[in-house]
Amino acid sequence: MHKNVIIIGGGFGGLETALSLKNLLPSSVRITLVDRSEYHAFIPSIHNIVSGDIQARDIQIPLELVLGVAGIEFVHDEVISADVSDKKVVMSSQVLDYDYLVLSSGGENNFYGVQGAETFSYGFRSPEDAERIHADLCSLLEDRNRKCSLVIAGGGPEGVEVAGELLDVIRGRGYGHELNEGRISLQLIHGQNNLLPSFPVKAQEFAREHLLQKGVTIATGHRIVEVQQNAVTLDSGMKYDMSMLIWTGGIQPNRLIRELPLKKAPNGWLKVTEQLHSPDDDSVYGVGDIVSIYIHDQPLALARLAYHALDQAVTAAMNINSHLRGRRQVGYAPKDRPQLVSLGKEMGIYARKDAVLSGQWVVLLKKAVQARHLMTYLSKPGLSAIMSKIPGMSFGQFLRMLSPL
Ligand SMILES: Cc1cc2nc3c(=O)[nH]c(=O)nc-3n(C[C@H](O)[C@H](O)[C@H](O)COP(=O)(O)OP(=O)(O)OC[C@H]3O[C@@H](n4cnc5c(N)ncnc54)[C@H](O)[C@@H]3O)c2cc1C
Repeated sequence: MHKNVIIIGGGFGGLETALSLKNLLPSSVRITLVDRSEYHAFIPSIHNIVSGDIQARDIQIPLELVLGVAGIEFVHDEVISADVSDKKVVMSSQVLDYDYLVLSSGGENNFYGVQGAETFSYGFRSPEDAERIHADLCSLLEDRNRKCSLVIAGGGPEGVEVAGELLDVIRGRGYGHELNEGRISLQLIHGQNNLLPSFPVKAQEFAREHLLQKGVTIATGHRIVEVQQNAVTLDSGMKYDMSMLIWTGGIQPNRLIRELPLKKAPNGWLKVTEQLHSPDDDSVYGVGDIVSIYIHDQPLALARLAYHALDQAVTAAMNINSHLRGRRQVGYAPKDRPQLVSLGKEMGIYARKDAVLSGQWVVLLKKAVQARHLMTYLSKPGLSAIMSKIPGMSFGQFLRMLSPL
């Protein structure tokens, strides 16, 4: 009987796993990817949708197209639950059996139980979220009879990037002179003491100075404790007017992962071994934002980033192939790559270990990374045909051989 591999999620981790598996596994193995969205999106560029620089469709590619050409089945549906004892995936429209399951369903906003936060804030995790922010921001700015008090919750890369884009919209549409003059304000609230907490100090200071100088008001070391329709309250008791709140305050595993009867890390992420499968079940693999990797019972400190998801996908695909063929599996070893943060369209920060550089070229580099990523997936099915003639090499290895980025 043929074997079935089901992958939940067609984001960075899931799509890369599917295409890598297609190269490694015998053609008799059926690979199915399920996603509730029709598209794979380059999420790191959604801030450009906020400014109106690009539209959602510029960073989305249809999963059906990419997977169909590669001979991978795509199911456009929401996964409701996974029954790991009977090896079944339950969707809205059908139930599928699996021999191997790959979980790569990403994270969702964490509102930390703050009253009103989910109801009265804009999420910032998808192209659709960014489109909504752009549309509502433009109407707010245009209505000169209304105050436009913009608040960003969270000063990690997402919060800092969206601040840069909001500034571009305000200035680009000719409202720059009204910023901090009564009608328009832009406030960034961050619970920790420094913006960009996982970055070198030089990058943190640069981001802070740049945003302050451009007119952003920054409140660090304070958490939002309550959100009402037109106001946010901080733990200090301070209350600020708010016409639009953009929430970038952190992520958590979604319900699908929370309800799985498999070991979790203390914060709810799926626990996986160095080989990227559950310690409870070696037919269930996890990649990307949903995992917490444990090596010799110690959690691996790892930021939730797209490039880690891509690397994990290659390791998981290799290990499923090895398991199926009775070979030894490999351990996942994170690689260090530069982080790029834009501060609007004229400035960006490049950070790699302690090296920090800045300039408009970073924004251009980010766009180049986006273009390369999307082009790679559009051409991967073609590459797949070539790769199938080179046994034992995954897409990821092949692509990294071709390009240093
Ligand atoms: C605004 C923003 C900016 C970022 N910038 C960067 C950056 O510059 N560099 C970087 O490396 N990383 C960046 N990241 C992080 C990066 O986007 C994530 O680490 C990456 O997307 C994780 O990949 P993933 O495959 O785990 O999950 P995702 O890419 O989130 O994909 C999950 C997929 O699962 C699907 N799904 C979820 N639940 C279900 C379900 N129940 N049924 C069916 N389908 C489901 C979703 O539709 C989605 O397609 C950024 C993130 C955000 C939000």
